[in-house]
Amino acid sequence: MGIAPSLVDAARVKDEFIDLVSIASPSRREGAMARRLEAILKGMGASVEVDDAGEKVGGETGNLLARFAGNRSPAPPFLLSAHMDTVGPAEAIHPVVDGSIVRTDRTSVLGGDDKAGIVAILEAVRVLRERAIPHGDLELVLTICEESGLRGAKGFDTGRLRSRRGLVLDVDGVCELITRAPAANHLNATIHGLAAHAGICPEQGLSAIQLAAGAIAGMKLGRIDGETTANIGVIHGGLAGNIVPDRVAIRGEARSLSVPKLEAQTAHMRERFQAAVAGRSVRVGGRLHEARVEVEVRRQYEPLNISDDASIVGLVRAAAAARGRECPTRATGGGSDANVFAERGIEVANLGCGMREIHTVNEWVDLRDVVATAELVLETLRLNAVSG
Ligand SMILES: [Zn+2]
Repeated sequence: MGIAPSLVDAARVKDEFIDLVSIASPSRREGAMARRLEAILKGMGASVEVDDAGEKVGGETGNLLARFAGNRSPAPPFLLSAHMDTVGPAEAIHPVVDGSIVRTDRTSVLGGDDKAGIVAILEAVRVLRERAIPHGDLELVLTICEESGLRGAKGFDTGRLRSRRGLVLDVDGVCELITRAPAANHLNATIHGLAAHAGICPEQGLSAIQLAAGAIAGMKLGRIDGETTANIGVIHGGLAGNIVPDRVAIRGEARSLSVPKLEAQTAHMRERFQAAVAGRSVRVGGRLHEARVEVEVRRQYEPLNISDDASIVGLVRAAAAARGRECPTRATGGGSDANVFAERGIEVANLGCGMREIHTVNEWVDLRDVVATAELVLETLRLNAVSG
């Protein structure tokens, strides 16, 4: 059996991609992007709702939930999701087109993360509808604030979804499926020492910077093992060169594909901070001042962990095979909205959609990868309708 000719309209993909990346949409400022997408989706025949997640984050809009009624029953409903926001710099985006490659003038990111995913989803659904290809009900969730802690997805009520499986399109590469992504802990530590004049009476101070340095110097950071990473990303403290610093605030994180390993690494980091201040004190004017540390740990998201035997993996692989391709599964070190949907019991994987060198002003997209992704999504939706 040969491969059916592509039904995806490459010229339309190009026009829509340039249209959408040209709309700046940094996190919490996705309003114009949401209005544009709402118009597009309604034009395609969807019912569109905007939820209240935007109010929770002080943003311009909530998440979009678009529903397309299926034309074949019974067919299982299917979730497709991508995020509307981008990282910065993204005040104004000037796309530069060179053949099939789109980049920027390097004053901003491109925002192919995640507009490549949005365009692939829109094109797949558009072809499905205009060709009247049998499909089940479709639920599209286009989120806000993915780049600022998955806050849009976290604020979305997944109880509104009927889909039990689906795809998030939000990762680099093409025709690759992310089935494993780490759980992450955010860590805030505040070390309290005691201020003193650095020249006159340093022995009456306790340097919070020196205590922090001791804690961090003894800390396992970076790549801990094949599944686990850790980082201290921000350190902030001190007032002047002639003051023994009394306070340092430190922000870091740990991630692991394995929750027990995440907990062990987090405990290690906490213990290093506590050990660095333990027993450190100074007596000034008859009063004992003890150094202390407050460590706050917050779980940012739970892991994504989909078996290669899961139905969503089989479905996407069968779709790839029908397009003459393979679709390997892999793990990533980054979280995405897929972590949130998975935690809430929806079987999702994260499909590569052609974004490259993301989170930099060198970001680029090869439109042929977006077309290939749209073809893969289209075939996945077609097979979903006949899979029962
Ligand atoms: Zn993204």
